[in-house]
Amino acid sequence: MYERQKKQSRLSDFMSSLAGFCRGMKVTFVNLFEREKVTISYPYEKRTVSPRYRGLFYLPYDEEAGRLKCVGCTLCAQACPTNVISMTKLGAGKHAGVSEFTMDLGRCMFCDLCIEACPFDAIHMGPSYELATYERSGSVFRIEDLAPGGKAQVESNSKTIKAALEAEAAQKASNAQKSTTTTTGGHA
Ligand code: SF4
Ligand code: SF4
Repeated sequence: MYERQKKQSRLSDFMSSLAGFCRGMKVTFVNLFEREKVTISYPYEKRTVSPRYRGLFYLPYDEEAGRLKCVGCTLCAQACPTNVISMTKLGAGKHAGVSEFTMDLGRCMFCDLCIEACPFDAIHMGPSYELATYERSGSVFRIEDLAPGGKAQVESNSKTIKAALEAEAAQKASNAQKSTTTTTGGHA
């Protein structure tokens, strides 16, 4: 009698373990064949990041004006708590811009304060996230790295600003000449 109870107990243990095993395998197969895969083979596959992702900075280019939107006001640099941003201004007044814009991302916290401070919508963060480097100098991004169109856009930016400044100076000189002629003519 005792032996029979022992056998029944073993059988019930076995059945219970088998049921547990089957439940576990069911979860495994559901994940294997039915659920959408969430893992990717990085770096061969790249994940699409959210539109709000804070990746590598870029300086938007105004195609119509033929120059970068940045006017070199330095508000972004002043807002940055870790001195990431430095720039060289080019021109002044309504033709103000930059000839150099450097960001040392090794110090950046991606806090967004510089972007919020910009009144001209002239600095943004893009989706690029592979910013790791073996050398500290690799984290320094210059204007040609930050302009979406690279060196060509930086050259076009400088050319447009310089041309506008020259045109303005020529206009001023012409106005001054006219004013002198008018004054001289008035005295005569
Ligand atoms: S995100 Fe923050 S830390 Fe980075 S440059 Fe802008 S203000 Fe400075
Ligand atoms: S990015 Fe904006 S805030 Fe910074 S210097 Fe250019 S215009 Fe000024």
